[in-house]
Amino acid sequence: CGIVGYIGKRDVAPLLLEGLQRLEYRGYDSAGVVITGKSGGLKMVKAKGRVRDLESRVPKRFAGTTGIAHTRWATHGAPSDENAHPHLDGESKVAVVHNGIVDNASELRAKLVADGVEFLSETDTEVLTHLIARSQAPTLEEKVREALRLVEGTYGIAVLHADFTDRIVVARNGSPVVLGIGEKEMFVASDVAALVSHTRQVVTLDDGEMATIKADDFRTYTTEGSRTTASPTTVEWEA
Ligand code: GLU
Repeated sequence: CGIVGYIGKRDVAPLLLEGLQRLEYRGYDSAGVVITGKSGGLKMVKAKGRVRDLESRVPKRFAGTTGIAHTRWATHGAPSDENAHPHLDGESKVAVVHNGIVDNASELRAKLVADGVEFLSETDTEVLTHLIARSQAPTLEEKVREALRLVEGTYGIAVLHADFTDRIVVARNGSPVVLGIGEKEMFVASDVAALVSHTRQVVTLDDGEMATIKADDFRTYTTEGSRTTASPTTVEWEA
């Protein structure tokens, strides 16, 4: 349902929670956040219920400067802590938040299970996590691209990887994704409402388009890998 992400220098958890709150009007049944920082590794908190239920579970020390967050409107699997996004692979390397529906999820899931993958949720989304985690491609962009090649359906996704913490990779097919361009910081969201309090410079992805955001740089390209031109536009917004 809703996606927010940030990469920069600021303390990321409060920023993401604030962004999720701005998406509350869309409706949702659960929420979650995953972050990474200097200490490395991914740290995740999820909760069925409201953003404030999630907030009350965030530990005092939850430091990080990069992260992605989600409000879920369940399509596959009941609203629960486990089914809330983000979804991590067994080694906690890859985190995915997803809006939309993976149409061939049960088929992909059956194949992954036959290969020995253990699923932690009932969502269609979790297949994406494992496909990305199992990809042998050298870059995060290629891992995501490989996974998306196998997936049918709609998605707006954001991906964080413990081995590539200088970036967030996002992709869009039928579910909106906008980048927010800041000063030495970048945002991503499914709705400009989540980022206009920080920047008015936005890039709206097209279907079939992906992007990599780093603290001081962004680039967009097609799911086949060829670069696309994206110049930020200024959004008008009455606060
Ligand atoms: N299909 C996914 C799920 O059920 C994502 C739903 C959403 O867009 O929030 O978990």
